[in-house]
Amino acid sequence: MNKLTLYNTLARKKETFVPLKKGSVGMYCCGPTVYNYAHVGNLRSYIFEDVLRRVLEFNKFKVKHVTNITDVGHLTSDADVGEDKMLKGAKREKKTVWQIAEFYTKAFKDDIIKLNIKNPNTWSKATDHIKEQITLIQILEKKGFTYQAGGNVYFDTSSVKDYGKLAKLDLKADTKERVEEDKNKKNKHDFVLWFTKSKFQDQGMKWKSPYGTGYPGWHIECSAMSMKYLGKQFDIHCGGIDHIPVHHTNEIVQSESATGKKPWVKYWLHNEFLVLRKGEKMAKSGDNFITLQTLEEKEFHPLDYRYFCLGTHYRKPLMFSWDALESAQNARTRLFDRVLEIKSTGGKVLPKYGKKFIQEINNDLNTPNALAIVWDLFKDKKLKSNDMYTTLLLFDRVLGLGLKNITKDKIPQNVTKLAKERLNARQDKDWKNSDKLRDEINKLGYDIEDSAEGYTIKKK
Ligand code: AMP
Ligand code: ZN
Repeated sequence: MNKLTLYNTLARKKETFVPLKKGSVGMYCCGPTVYNYAHVGNLRSYIFEDVLRRVLEFNKFKVKHVTNITDVGHLTSDADVGEDKMLKGAKREKKTVWQIAEFYTKAFKDDIIKLNIKNPNTWSKATDHIKEQITLIQILEKKGFTYQAGGNVYFDTSSVKDYGKLAKLDLKADTKERVEEDKNKKNKHDFVLWFTKSKFQDQGMKWKSPYGTGYPGWHIECSAMSMKYLGKQFDIHCGGIDHIPVHHTNEIVQSESATGKKPWVKYWLHNEFLVLRKGEKMAKSGDNFITLQTLEEKEFHPLDYRYFCLGTHYRKPLMFSWDALESAQNARTRLFDRVLEIKSTGGKVLPKYGKKFIQEINNDLNTPNALAIVWDLFKDKKLKSNDMYTTLLLFDRVLGLGLKNITKDKIPQNVTKLAKERLNARQDKDWKNSDKLRDEINKLGYDIEDSAEGYTIKKK
């Protein structure tokens, strides 16, 4: 098998992937801040991470995948200024921050299922890990990396030599921050580890700490939770490119200062943005916000969006337009129809195509070229249907388009969603929930048959 190469932001080049421990991979992904629906830009990030995980598994690595849920501490600017995002959501909807967090976490997990994104092995919620975050702050304090000012605890970036190495920050450059600076900071890049006397009088989430009652800064959660589940050093950390200069930079300095072990993470992978006309980034705070629900209301299938994302390399900006999405929809529907035509048993994987496919996906996840190989297969008139079908199912372990589960009957989306939820429940060995979901599927007039690879839905 070809070696797997991945573009490492830390090195600014493609590198051969060699895990810290033979055969297994620890992978941490920065998850959503649950104060609103995820927009399709955010979802591009999770599709990229899902493909990465699938490629690692295709290469026979055992992957431990952790994704966090940020439900506290994230301000509208990543650099500790602006409004508290959770509070902003609560005010907008006249609910408590806890209700907001619960509602949008559920909405996010629903999107993940619809996009055929594999559930992480661990979902880690920031508010469930306050103790771990305080312990980490205490370690940093003992080692002399922190100071207290205005009631808050800050990380002192002047206490380390290599701050900003991931982003190659020019620390002397005068950043033209549009927002007001925090007067308590000793150095421009210092950041908050624990807030107490913050400007948010009505902050709903507060915990006792040695520094006073308050709540953690945003960055500390990812250091604390990733190290809890993956160890002091691990293989891969992902997120969108916006995380490079602040969030991931701060995560690195906290973690390496606390443990003294470098590098904290061996490979850093970042996806480019989903952009609108003139390169404008899709953002939750903007008025250009499109959700998966919006796509479904316009009669797109969530997998049309997955196909759309696969068509552009994750390190290239992806321009969103309804026309482009419609082309992806046409291609995805055509693919499903063709797969149904060749559906058969007893085939073998076609070595020539299998080899080409691995070459592409192992070349820094080249999904556009991998999709092109799928279409080349259909153009090759010499191939037998059953071999084509078997080969495509193998490819789909990476593409994640659910080719195994296509049936002639048009299965309603609510039924497929329940079936996917049930598959997740079965994978988690939650048999009670799995039986409950089967009953719901039956009530809607469908039967579900399990197989080693997944399931098949049939009309009763
Ligand atoms: P957030 O919920 O804002 O913390 O973001 C969740 C993930 O989405 C992060 O990895 C971000 O880097 C990523 N992200 C945010 N905006 C975009 C965008 N327009 N395109 C692609 N990824 C994005
Ligand atoms: Zn993070």
